[in-house]
Amino acid sequence: MKVAVIGGGWAGLAAAVELADAGVKAIVFETARQLGGRARSVEVNGHTLDNGQHILVGAYRETLRLMTRVGADPERLLKRLPLELTFPGSQPPFRLRLPRLPAPLHLAIGLFTTHGASLAEKIGAVRFMRFLQATDYQLDADCTVAALLDRHAQRGSLRRHLWEPLCLAALNTLPANASAQIFANVLRDSLGGGRADTDLLLPAADLDRLFPLAAAGFIRARGGEIRLSTCVEHIDDELTIAGETFDRIILATAPQHAAAFLAQRSETANIAAMLASYAYEPIGTVYVGYPPTLKLPFPMLGLDSGAKENLGQWVFDRAPLGGPPGVMSFVLSARGAWDERDNDALAATLHTELEAALQTSLPPPLWHQVIRERRATFSCRPDLPRPPAKTAHRGLWLAGDYVCAGYPATLEGAVRSGVAAALGVLVDHPTSS
Ligand SMILES: Cc1cc2nc3c(=O)[nH]c(=O)nc-3n(C[C@H](O)[C@H](O)[C@H](O)COP(=O)(O)OP(=O)(O)OC[C@H]3O[C@@H](n4cnc5c(N)ncnc54)[C@H](O)[C@@H]3O)c2cc1C
Repeated sequence: MKVAVIGGGWAGLAAAVELADAGVKAIVFETARQLGGRARSVEVNGHTLDNGQHILVGAYRETLRLMTRVGADPERLLKRLPLELTFPGSQPPFRLRLPRLPAPLHLAIGLFTTHGASLAEKIGAVRFMRFLQATDYQLDADCTVAALLDRHAQRGSLRRHLWEPLCLAALNTLPANASAQIFANVLRDSLGGGRADTDLLLPAADLDRLFPLAAAGFIRARGGEIRLSTCVEHIDDELTIAGETFDRIILATAPQHAAAFLAQRSETANIAAMLASYAYEPIGTVYVGYPPTLKLPFPMLGLDSGAKENLGQWVFDRAPLGGPPGVMSFVLSARGAWDERDNDALAATLHTELEAALQTSLPPPLWHQVIRERRATFSCRPDLPRPPAKTAHRGLWLAGDYVCAGYPATLEGAVRSGVAAALGVLVDHPTSS
């Protein structure tokens, strides 16, 4: 069997790896000159860095399994840290750290020993998690995360420093707009899972080396091909791409690009219409180079200093993550005031916010570079419809973060969707259909 995979992001590569592992010839078409899609390496001021700081968690089981399968050792390439959310500049300073204890003790003790939250808030947070557990993380009806938190009286410091930042980090959508059901699913798999599931896994190598390069080697070694700089314009009825016929095709692009293909034929026009209703959220990454001696107390710090106008959310020190010393990456998730600032103003504001968070003056930055991914993720709204992997066009399958129902736009969602499409193709093999 010969299968075309359109799109060399993490979803397409996951699909091709699964197929190659099953002895299928997988041909990956990627329009860009490199693999990785929205999770790729870029050159920044002479350093190889990422198009955006990515955070993985221990619950990313399929991502970790496939990394291991292709020979990209997660233990070496990811820095595993117990979940720690630290906002040193907030009033009072906030710090939540989950101890290395068995679940659910780690969560209970972590919440009760949090600095900067009242006892009433801690009890309220435990009650909220117990409510979600008791309902098996299934809400009667979807609503926004803000409405869910209001309903369960989640206010104050834990809302501001735990629930809302988790929502933004995982769903890349403001709590006022984000799906409470998808948020509950994320909590089920992370805070509600085993202790290791809650661990932060911070990339300690550039994103290309985390999965795309090893995946490409794995696919090639099993008779597959990676065709870079090859934009697929059209799929015809016989599953033919530029004169070459395939037994199956997996369309593994971002939703806005998939919609253009799906609108071309009547059987898939309904999915194209569904995807046309999607909204998108940006992510900004601001790299700032300081003198190499500058270090943060923890590789990932929250920037909230209590000021209403705070723009930055998280800052990462790249040096302990295998990056160049003195280079900080600031993360700005979802639509917000940050996106209206020009690059110089944004970098200057983030520098000031870091000083406020650390309560010290810092040496002036040596350089900065801003990367704005305009359509970083789909906006994860309540009741957002998701298409199935199998389309009504015979032999055409979908993969991509948006196909993984129940998950926000994440690497794990992308990988799971790719694996699911590949397994679907294998079951649906021409000889058995
Ligand atoms: C800045 C940023 C930060 C993020 N942070 C996190 C994070 O911390 N944790 C997390 O889990 N997730 C994060 N994400 C989300 C995660 O990166 C995405 O969910 C995931 O990479 C999507 O993978 P995908 O394969 O579904 O789609 P994509 O990565 O979009 O891959 C689709 C590929 O298809 C190619 N393509 C499109 N059209 C064609 C065509 N006609 N022919 C051939 N090829 C085509 C594209 O070039 C692209 O390479 C972040 C995303 C961004 C942008």
